[in-house]
Amino acid sequence: MELKNGSHEEYVTDINGYERMERFNPETIEKLAEHYQAILQLIGENTEREGLKDSPVRVAKAMQFLTHGYDLNPEEMLRSAKFKEDYREMVIVKDIEIYSMCEHHMIPFVGKAHVGYIPNGYITGLSKIARVVDAYARRLQVQERLTTQIKECIQNTLDPLGVAVVIEAKHLCMAMRGVQKQNSVTTTSDFTGAFKRNETRAEFIHLIGSDLG
Ligand SMILES: [Zn+2]
Repeated sequence: MELKNGSHEEYVTDINGYERMERFNPETIEKLAEHYQAILQLIGENTEREGLKDSPVRVAKAMQFLTHGYDLNPEEMLRSAKFKEDYREMVIVKDIEIYSMCEHHMIPFVGKAHVGYIPNGYITGLSKIARVVDAYARRLQVQERLTTQIKECIQNTLDPLGVAVVIEAKHLCMAMRGVQKQNSVTTTSDFTGAFKRNETRAEFIHLIGSDLG
């Protein structure tokens, strides 16, 4: 499938037999692969050996997949799935998996996002909340900004009575290098409207089962 910026979408079957969508732009892949080839040589590798021959192109495609959030418009995603509804209680989607990459080291951080909102006339599909999280996560990020972008996207599009976002993530850049705190988890949170009230926020935190006090 051809996309507007010259990208292609391709279904790739992985080693476990699962199909997944990969989106890439052939021109960008070619340039990226040249750079990855140079990087491999600079770290002292032999790019001619069997195991590495196809790595520059593979890494280039992986990198484009891991950053495909730049091609997505999360606000548009929510606007296209906005339904009028009088429900005014807390809606929570918890344990949304996050796979992102820290912009300082370009090393993954992985964890979970918990998102809540209190509708004010409009709701959205629950899967759309997870897609919004993913659209922002699939970019170079810092956890703090990721948290705030998700919050603002929901606030701006659904105009709810409040939005709550909590992210708990493990940063491999911390675990693998330097400080080597393998099991530390970073928690970030951001709230608007009704969630600024202590009891509403406490209810949300209780419901997501987080040990945030
Ligand atoms: Zn980092």
